[in-house]
Amino acid sequence: MSVQNKVALITGAASGIGRECALTLARQGAAVVVADLNPAASELVVAEIIKAGGRAISVVMDVTDEDAVNAGVNRAVTEFGSIDILVSNAGIQIIHPIEEFPYADWKKIMAIHVDGAFLTTKAAIKHMYDSGRGGSIIYMGSVHSHQASKLKSAYITAKHGLLGLARAIAKEGGPRGVRTNVVCPGFVRTPLVDKQIPEQAALFNMSEEDVIKKVFLQETVDGEFTTTADIANTVAFVAGFETNALTGQSIVVSHGWSMI
Ligand code: NAD
Repeated sequence: MSVQNKVALITGAASGIGRECALTLARQGAAVVVADLNPAASELVVAEIIKAGGRAISVVMDVTDEDAVNAGVNRAVTEFGSIDILVSNAGIQIIHPIEEFPYADWKKIMAIHVDGAFLTTKAAIKHMYDSGRGGSIIYMGSVHSHQASKLKSAYITAKHGLLGLARAIAKEGGPRGVRTNVVCPGFVRTPLVDKQIPEQAALFNMSEEDVIKKVFLQETVDGEFTTTADIANTVAFVAGFETNALTGQSIVVSHGWSMI
């Protein structure tokens, strides 16, 4: 079971978890397409992969823009011949109490997480079918695909939605060798989480240290953050798993915060 010589397109790969997935899959022999809104940061990831002897290109992609998604997927296929692995990872977080949640922010979260997963799946799966080899689709879910926390109604709704999408695509793609799974991280120190620490401290009237200990890590078995490497290694395992025995599943990687 390996990603060697596979082609992987990873959205949101210029930062945090997506970046680590790109570096890890490249180290394990995959050709990687770094797809992100941020071209300068994407190019740094590509340069790091190439310096280490790997293969990578970047594509500028807003995952909510159908034309940009289709163009990025086509560029990947032109460059590397196929797409075998899709990691739909791009994401943001916006927190508000529900009674103050701006509708525009609600729609932005849904668009990036849910529409983005739909559009990238629709574009990539055709190539997985056409190659005759099938492939592996991985959505970046969250412990919030299974559990709730205060202030995150839009994010939690979107991340729960990815479980439904994964199960639906697992059914559709299974007969043609396309597996679809969700990887669900606990809290990982990335820019997405660093931004929330002062925001939650203000909204809950707590110190930033207490937000980390009492909100983020209270229910883990050891008070530890999950790391980008923990998630990237799980993604590599799922991406390299070669049979439909593992499809339609979610795998929680969270220091025991969630034990579903
Ligand atoms: P991050 O902020 O470090 O990286 C997110 C990346 O997504 C950025 O490079 C950004 O440019 C890109 N992006 C944002 N909107 C985009 C769009 N419309 N099109 C293309 N790219 C876009 O965040 P992260 O923590 O690495 O998050 C990655 C994924 O992991 C997200 O889906 C997030 O919900 C999920 N997740 C994160 C944590 C955590 O604790 N960090 C926990 C569970 C799940």
